[in-house]
Amino acid sequence: MKAEEKIKSLRDELNRHNHLYYVLDKPEISDYEFDKKLKELQELEEKYPEFQDENSPTLRVGGAVTKNFATVVHEHRMYSLDNSYSKEDLENWEKRIRKQVDGEVNYTCELKYDGASISLTYENGEFKQAVTRGDGFKGDDVTNNVRTIRSIPLRLKGNDHPEKFEIRGEIVLPYEGFAHLNAARVEAGEEPYANPRNTASGSLKLQDSGEVAKRPLDCLLYNLTGNNLGIKTQYESLEKARSWGFKVPNEAKLAKNLEEVLQFVNFWDVHRHDLPYETDGVVVKVNDLHQQEELGYTAKSPRWAMAYKFKTEQVSTHLNKITYQVGRTGAITPVANLEPVQLGGTVVKRASLHNADQIEKLDIREGDEVYVEKGGEIIPKIIGVNFKSRDPKSNPTQYISHCPECGTQLVRKEGEAQHYCPNFNGCPPQIIGRIQHFISRKAMDIEGLGGETVALLVNEGLIGNYADLYELKKEQILPLERMAEKSAENLIQGIENSKEIPFERVLFALGIRYVGETVAKKLAKQFKTIDAIEQVSQEELEKVDEIGERIAESVVEFFASGENVENVNRLKEYGLQLEISAEKLANQSNKLDGQTFVVSGVFEMSRNDLKKLIEDNGGKVSGSISSKTSYVVAGENMGPSKLAKAESLGIPIISEKEFLKKVE
Ligand code: AMP
Ligand code: ZN
Repeated sequence: MKAEEKIKSLRDELNRHNHLYYVLDKPEISDYEFDKKLKELQELEEKYPEFQDENSPTLRVGGAVTKNFATVVHEHRMYSLDNSYSKEDLENWEKRIRKQVDGEVNYTCELKYDGASISLTYENGEFKQAVTRGDGFKGDDVTNNVRTIRSIPLRLKGNDHPEKFEIRGEIVLPYEGFAHLNAARVEAGEEPYANPRNTASGSLKLQDSGEVAKRPLDCLLYNLTGNNLGIKTQYESLEKARSWGFKVPNEAKLAKNLEEVLQFVNFWDVHRHDLPYETDGVVVKVNDLHQQEELGYTAKSPRWAMAYKFKTEQVSTHLNKITYQVGRTGAITPVANLEPVQLGGTVVKRASLHNADQIEKLDIREGDEVYVEKGGEIIPKIIGVNFKSRDPKSNPTQYISHCPECGTQLVRKEGEAQHYCPNFNGCPPQIIGRIQHFISRKAMDIEGLGGETVALLVNEGLIGNYADLYELKKEQILPLERMAEKSAENLIQGIENSKEIPFERVLFALGIRYVGETVAKKLAKQFKTIDAIEQVSQEELEKVDEIGERIAESVVEFFASGENVENVNRLKEYGLQLEISAEKLANQSNKLDGQTFVVSGVFEMSRNDLKKLIEDNGGKVSGSISSKTSYVVAGENMGPSKLAKAESLGIPIISEKEFLKKVE
């Protein structure tokens, strides 16, 4: 087969499997097989860049960076919806509708998905553009970011789609993905996101589409827009869109009359909690598109549609006590301990109070009757106090001033919401939490050692920090509860094996606040040894790309502690990897420091190798030519528009050979 055909057929195949997996949830091949095909396509595309296509499935991983999102005027306005909050409102609306149009009226009932609204444009079956709602008249072009969302088809199935149309829907972040994302943030010592909806809309405006690709976003479609679509009803449009490969929720239902509409509402009011994403109501739409046209629009919204908002479930209960939890980084979280109460199908006993400001703002006190609500978060939250039933003798809550675990005076940095216990090395939950982080899978990945055993080892006085792990002896741990000969051996062996874990992961494992996996990689690459990082000043740190004041300050603070330095020195003595390995180092230099390269055309070596070479030598690779570009490395068949741009900006164009001389 010719390369071009092979590329096309691989793309079709991957698009099909993508649809099976992300839209229908019925995969036919394993992830492994999928990745193999994807890799094959990637290699072919690299070899034959002339066949690259902006809608190739390989581009789902993102990479394009958008500094400023262009404003786009909507060809068809994106309206809001009128809201009703009672069944009576809904009944009145339906009566009005029947008066205003002739003939029988049917309704499409859909759920109201709570995310960020989006309009996607397709031309000749290909994904072209994605624009946010904005003010309804104009929105932001977020095409590069939206392309990474796996359930959005880049090429449509079938051949009965209009030549050009828009399709509208909601970009949502399912609960599960939201929980994972937050777990990772907490692990990196960052504040968790508040709710899935804001996180979804925030994701659309990230500059780096590679970051967007990592977020498990989904896109649910519910409205076709365009001229001459050849479609008669809303329900038919949903079915058509589904057949073209869009993720159109299966919950939508046709209702013949108000009674059936109300049945739909009642059903989903109860069952919406079983869905994987947030919904906040039902949208009822006149089904017949002619009738829709007759009814038309008000200044803000269509007359032919009405949203019915579910009542957010709310209960009131007694707040017995406020307690305080200490996390691994020392952050204090206040927790409301409630009189157990039924809410949304579960019994609720605790609710997060977030921080001191939140308690003060709502004036929450022990002994109060409080209103509890289940929002997007899994943990319910307190939204207010029933002041009528408050004991007149009660006093405002005094936030704790000292750590509940170790008694140290708490600190709160300017501009931060959270209080911290600064007793980094003497506060039990911090000690245990830090060691648990140290051994975790993404850090030192110590086999044979789990979180509970760590707590046991600390409580038995066998270890007090992560360096102590490396002095543990089998005889010491054997007497522990449930510790057999074999598991003790495995544990010791697991600790021994961790000495091979590369530097960047050791750096992450140290548990420096705000130094997550990515930052650890950056620091390791930039400074190469722990000694260098220990000595670098805050100003120098801030000069590193993407290292801001907050991270820099935290790194400097970490190494200002004698105990931390001693622990790190001990790790060094035990033989852990505290610098980049000689092998990695041999391929690195600073020769290209501060220079930005654009790579264009076909080369002898693979493009990925070329890019890696640039980065390993301190240079930066950029996708587009600008006045900031230092060199364009041109291979064969360099694109004419890039050539013209480079020439017009006077940017030197060098060959592969000339480039290699620079780094030799
Ligand atoms: P509102 O923002 O309250 O005016 O509600 C209108 C928004 O609801 C629209 O812009 C959509 O983003 C969103 N929405 C969610 N689900 C649907 C649906 N099934 N049909 C129409 N709009 C929906
Ligand atoms: Zn403490």
